[in-house]
Amino acid sequence: MYHNKTLAELSAMLQAGEVSSVELTQYFLDRIKAKDSEINSFISVTEEQALAQAKAADERIAAGNAGALTGVPFAQKDIFCTEGVRSSCGSKMLDNFISPYDATVVSKFNTAGAVMLGKTNMDEFAMGSSNETSFYGAVKNPWDLKKVPGGSSGGSAAAVAARLAPAATGTDTGGSIRQPASLCNLTGLKPTYGRVSRYGMIAFASSLDQAGPMARTAQDCALLMNVMAGFDEKDSTSIEKEVPDYTAELNQPIKGLKIGLPKEFFGDGLDPEVAKPIQEAIALYKEMGAEIVDISLPNSALSVPVYYVVAPAECSSNLSRMDGVRFGHRCEEPKDLEDLYKRSRGEGFGEEVKRRILIGTYALSAGYYDAYYIKAQKLRRLISDDFKKAFEQVDVILGPTSPNVAFNMGEKSQDPVSMYLSDIYTIAVNLAGLPGMSVPAGFAHDMPVGLQLIGNYFEESRLLNVAHAYQQQTDWHDLCPPGFE
Ligand code: GLN
Repeated sequence: MYHNKTLAELSAMLQAGEVSSVELTQYFLDRIKAKDSEINSFISVTEEQALAQAKAADERIAAGNAGALTGVPFAQKDIFCTEGVRSSCGSKMLDNFISPYDATVVSKFNTAGAVMLGKTNMDEFAMGSSNETSFYGAVKNPWDLKKVPGGSSGGSAAAVAARLAPAATGTDTGGSIRQPASLCNLTGLKPTYGRVSRYGMIAFASSLDQAGPMARTAQDCALLMNVMAGFDEKDSTSIEKEVPDYTAELNQPIKGLKIGLPKEFFGDGLDPEVAKPIQEAIALYKEMGAEIVDISLPNSALSVPVYYVVAPAECSSNLSRMDGVRFGHRCEEPKDLEDLYKRSRGEGFGEEVKRRILIGTYALSAGYYDAYYIKAQKLRRLISDDFKKAFEQVDVILGPTSPNVAFNMGEKSQDPVSMYLSDIYTIAVNLAGLPGMSVPAGFAHDMPVGLQLIGNYFEESRLLNVAHAYQQQTDWHDLCPPGFE
């Protein structure tokens, strides 16, 4: 049925008139109604708007001016401001926030004629690796309902893995596209910093945040990137650089490709069962003609501590706009302005968000700024220099996305540091602003394992090509969680 088709297949069916967008949209809306209570992947389902968009898409297809994504349903992470629709970012603070405008990513999908089914669940303000910090309740992993889907784009990952939507958007500040993609058996791409506009994407850590696609295949991610990427004058860090056709280079041969294996990604801390499928993938790339090169990213171990100074520092500043005055949650009957601030923020934010605001405020305070924030910025430079050196030797870097498969709900929620370590292989990529991907590569302990590919700046096409070549030889990405076939 339709839910087993990839985005590319659905797009072809729509263009050929084999199905209408209204039929397809209704089909996925019905499936969400029937199945989402099992996994809690949506915060809002925008049924009426979706059907109206679908009707408009059908007219566009009939008139012969449709693009590849016209009429194709997808899900939008609730971090993107969406005009007229609740845009909560997974927080009680924004539970009552109906956005008055569209994020650039949202308008780009609208212009393409894609159909938004709804807004997906996420860790509060994108802080988390398990999707347990959402005000709207935890999301469950469709592969095992006792386990987490990863975070913070866990709702997007669970929705696509359970075939409730053919694709979704995610955002990745330290791993939030790649880690949930890995834990839910999806393909996800975090583009180069500046490639996709951050305008209207509710800010967590502005120097790290980047939006990207989550889907079943690299080909689908390429189709989504064609819509999402591009310069935006409304985002001052957006980069004015031509957008390639991301589907054009999917079929480049792998022969001669130099793949670097950083020794730091294969050491202590990596579950040996997770290492096995990664080693098999390396062997397969060798068979395809790639050259494997051992490399080192010597400052990798610093990436988690550096991130947990930089990201909280930026979030403490970004979240200061949620003050109960202009928008979002406001406490009942404030006594005075200070009481309004304190209680609105105290009631509106969850535990993890408060922890980060406190850490960030501390790191930025006059007495500690040099010792923490400035020090972290210097180390951040060393971490990106490691990659610069590595890319003088190799074309792409390969390793696991996450040291472990999906863990049990509640297992790490009382131990923030062990939760933070879930992103040990993904965070350095954000600190350096590089593109990274996660690709389904097999199973360990009966749960999906993701292969991470890291590219040089603006080499998204190459990453998609390297992932696509692998997906032509394997069928991990086709596997569907039992109960959602
Ligand atoms: N898990 C990381 C964190 O909690 C990364 C989150 C993200 O990429 N948004 O900050």
